[in-house]
Amino acid sequence: VEDVSDELLDALKEASEAHSLDPLADLPHVYVPGLSCGRVRRAFVRDLNKSYYPTAQFRPERLRVAFGPAFLLEVSRGCSYKCRFCLARQIYRPMRVRRLPRLLEILKEGLERTATDRVSVISFAASDHPELTEILESLLARGVSFTIPSLRVDRAPTRALELLRESGQVSVTVAPEVASERLADALGKGVYPEEVIELGRELRRLGFSRLKLYFMVGVPGEREDEAAAIGKLAREVRELGFSRVTVAINPLIPKPHTPLQWAPYVRERDYRRRVELVRREAGRGIKLSGLEWREGLLEVAVARGGPEVGEALASASAEGRVSRRRALLVVKKLLKREARPALGYSLGAELPWEVVDVGVRRSEVVKEYERFLEALSR
Ligand code: SF4
Repeated sequence: VEDVSDELLDALKEASEAHSLDPLADLPHVYVPGLSCGRVRRAFVRDLNKSYYPTAQFRPERLRVAFGPAFLLEVSRGCSYKCRFCLARQIYRPMRVRRLPRLLEILKEGLERTATDRVSVISFAASDHPELTEILESLLARGVSFTIPSLRVDRAPTRALELLRESGQVSVTVAPEVASERLADALGKGVYPEEVIELGRELRRLGFSRLKLYFMVGVPGEREDEAAAIGKLAREVRELGFSRVTVAINPLIPKPHTPLQWAPYVRERDYRRRVELVRREAGRGIKLSGLEWREGLLEVAVARGGPEVGEALASASAEGRVSRRRALLVVKKLLKREARPALGYSLGAELPWEVVDVGVRRSEVVKEYERFLEALSR
């Protein structure tokens, strides 16, 4: 929102002085239930090199923050991959990069103004940044330690991985999402099990000793043997000699605006059974973590419910907070009346999130969903 932040702040000020949301509803990028007319358009920055960047970053002392207490260096925004389950791919289009000269300016100023000597290189796919190696080399040259939380390691240049090791990092996270070629094709992630093994070998050769793997269970149409294959793959990776392999298993949450937005959320007994299959197949020595089914249910209700979900959660909250337990009770009650956020929507249904135009045609999303279903039938 950097490019529209001035008008947004002005409207917020006006709204608070007038005790009215009208000034916000007048903006083309803000949706105010009951006041906005028609769909609102997603605001996005066209050129990251010309946009504002916050170089004085304040990190709340007593709160655990994403990416830890590091200076956040955003090197790109959006993602050029086409994973059909991914919200980021849809709502942060198109892929834009910040070029090296601008990044060096930001870094210089950021390290002066933010009390840290640690940098987190953030983006959805840092591996696709054309100057990733140069960025990491300049960080190393400055003597700052760095991490790249969401590197597509399978696509990262070897030199970038070497630099990561030189910076002292021993642990890497990879998100194959599934361990079956059929599901990988259907989801469009394009990471096959044999590539994960190959990557594991390469990481061991470079000296990485810990690996965290992210998987999803409950992809519509997933077979039990495909879930069990996750455990088998994790075991094979462990046998490559990593001192620690952690496997995070989460239920697939069908997200708004994505080609899977109509799909059902996995049933509880299927989810439990599949996680158990993974556990059994993985065997000892592999730590499993991830969301419980009911946490996923809460997420799916918030993601795919209508305005009533927000209203009910707001009424259940005290001082702006609502416990997870209470939120779950609220959501379960709502789902008894309107089950579609969990069971899925029909293709012709009006979807609550279509009040926001993210810049992707519905026909395009439908086509992608059909491709997903077609790939499943192979
Ligand atoms: S690579 Fe990651 S961020 Fe990019 S589309 Fe796939 S899941 Fe989304």
